Amino acid sequence: MNTESPRVCTTVKELRDLYSYPSRIGLIPTMGALHDGHCSLVARSKQENEVTIVSIFTNPTQFDNPDDFAKYPRTLESDIEILRQFEVDYVFAPNVEEMYPDHKRFKVSESETSKLLCGAHRHGHFDGVLTVVLKLLLAVRPARAYFGEKDFQQLTLVRELVEAFFVETQIVGCPTIREQSGLALSSRNARLSESQRETAIAFAQILRDAPSTAAAIAALQELDVRVDYVEERFGRRLAAIRLGPVENEIRLIDNVAV
Ligand code: AMP
Repeated sequence: MNTESPRVCTTVKELRDLYSYPSRIGLIPTMGALHDGHCSLVARSKQENEVTIVSIFTNPTQFDNPDDFAKYPRTLESDIEILRQFEVDYVFAPNVEEMYPDHKRFKVSESETSKLLCGAHRHGHFDGVLTVVLKLLLAVRPARAYFGEKDFQQLTLVRELVEAFFVETQIVGCPTIREQSGLALSSRNARLSESQRETAIAFAQILRDAPSTAAAIAALQELDVRVDYVEERFGRRLAAIRLGPVENEIRLIDNVAV
């Protein structure tokens, strides 16, 4: 293990040996390919905690499409460099065996919120998310954990998860960071072609400006995309679309307050 900031750990034991509990730790769970959206969560944690840990783990159990998992951008070295600039204390970058010592026999399953919206279109997705989030919260034992409103259904479910399992971590929701164009930052944006980027920008604008969900769906259908859903729930208008050929599709989600 190196001694420079951030220190990089790959096992729960190494991580546990670093500090005592109860903690003054802020955790930012990520799947890597870090951008300014992730960095806004890091900055918030740095303000509110003595120690900040960023986990980088591309979680296989939340991908319903093996191709999407295979093509998910992985940029660990440059991610660590970004976190060094933010003076993050620790990076937790486990491998799959470390996170799933049970070989995935156990999982967290939720029966209502997780079946809506993204859950209706990505089977098992939120079971994978909730399982890995609970594992991370129990492994790191942070005082606070930071999640983006960009993934609003995920944020809602994580809040419900900690309440259900009496986890003593405070879940902090952080606003969505966007480009000037209005496009929400996402690791998957790195996969967009120039013309797909224009479509993604139009998606953000339609979601924000359409007078109704029906009008938003109609406007999106004019674009070269497949619409998974546009729905209003949790006081938000939420949507997911898929771009590109089916064998190489890119799925984008976004939401705005209504
Ligand atoms: P991911 O690496 O995509 O799993 O995201 C890790 C965390 O960063 C999640 O809590 C996301 O909601 C959050 N996040 C991703 N994109 C953004 C964004 N554009 N603005 C704010 N938070 C974000």
